[in-house]
Amino acid sequence: MRNKNLNFKNNTMKAAVFYAPHLVKLEEINIPDIGPDEVLVKVKAALTCGTDRKTYLRGHHLFNPPFVFGHEFAGDIVEVGSKVKKIKPGMRVVAANSAPCNSCFYCKNGEHSLCDSLFIQLSGAFAEYIKIPGIIVSQNLLLFPEIVSYKEAAFLEPLSCVVHGVEESKINLGDTVVINGAGPIGLMFLQVVKLKGARVIITDMLEERLKLAIKLGAYKVINVSKVQNPVEEVKKLTEDKRGADVAIEAVGLPEVWEQTISMVRKGGMVNLFGGCKRGTKVSIDASLIHYSQINIKGVFHHTPGHVKRALNLICNKAIDIDSLITDEFPLSEISNVIELMLAHKGIKIAVIP
Ligand SMILES: [Zn+2]
Ligand SMILES: [Zn+2]
Repeated sequence: MRNKNLNFKNNTMKAAVFYAPHLVKLEEINIPDIGPDEVLVKVKAALTCGTDRKTYLRGHHLFNPPFVFGHEFAGDIVEVGSKVKKIKPGMRVVAANSAPCNSCFYCKNGEHSLCDSLFIQLSGAFAEYIKIPGIIVSQNLLLFPEIVSYKEAAFLEPLSCVVHGVEESKINLGDTVVINGAGPIGLMFLQVVKLKGARVIITDMLEERLKLAIKLGAYKVINVSKVQNPVEEVKKLTEDKRGADVAIEAVGLPEVWEQTISMVRKGGMVNLFGGCKRGTKVSIDASLIHYSQINIKGVFHHTPGHVKRALNLICNKAIDIDSLITDEFPLSEISNVIELMLAHKGIKIAVIP
């Protein structure tokens, strides 16, 4: 039942609804009703993400259309279910898009990002209101102070993945780290890796992104579209051309995975962070693993611990987030947002309902 004290006009809201690949419509739909363990948030800022781009092009295996598009957001609580404790209307909140079950083998083993029933079902950020499911309310709905803007807070989910990725990369003080890809994820990696006391080489094909990487503190940048052999170029920038201590892939393409593996020194760490399409195969020179003892790992998603630490980074102003938001549009201009996203223009685009 809708709280009668709330003055929702006709109980409807504007929302960008996904119907099929290449078909997202701005519509007037019902404001979702909430259950006893749920909350309703008035979205104050939402952000585009690489996942939205992929979803727009090919759909999403977890969501059956029609569904409201977008998943990164921050806003104000407007309504809480009868069983929700400690959360009150008016609070500034941000939520991750998932929560682990806490009862499967992996959760009990402390590997929450591998949870057998990881609840990744939060979509609906490109709308005036979004309902947060109970399992997320209890684990991954966080409050943030007024010194943090809604746009900054909306970075929480991707930054949580990056915090997880950096932790698993086992970076030491003084290391040289190469990051392949200077999109939103790569540029967040750059900043968090620098907090670990490493110097960063970053590669991309887009000059505009590399310029931003320099502004954000990269030691060297390489435009891979302008060099013959990116692996050699990276090695040349390391002592005795031995390769980087840590190499991170933040693109999600098999050819870049293969290059990343060749960029580390003997005994180095390779973090293949960018997800490739299911069924993708990559080839690896087996001697790199045996004789060179390189370490290769993948890192997926985040856990409630990473989400909390990511929020601390945002609240401590440890990361330059404003520089990563390159455009801003009202929700009514969602078609412009999608166009820019498809053309890989800018880094993150803010959508303001
Ligand atoms: Zn995202
Ligand atoms: Zn689980």
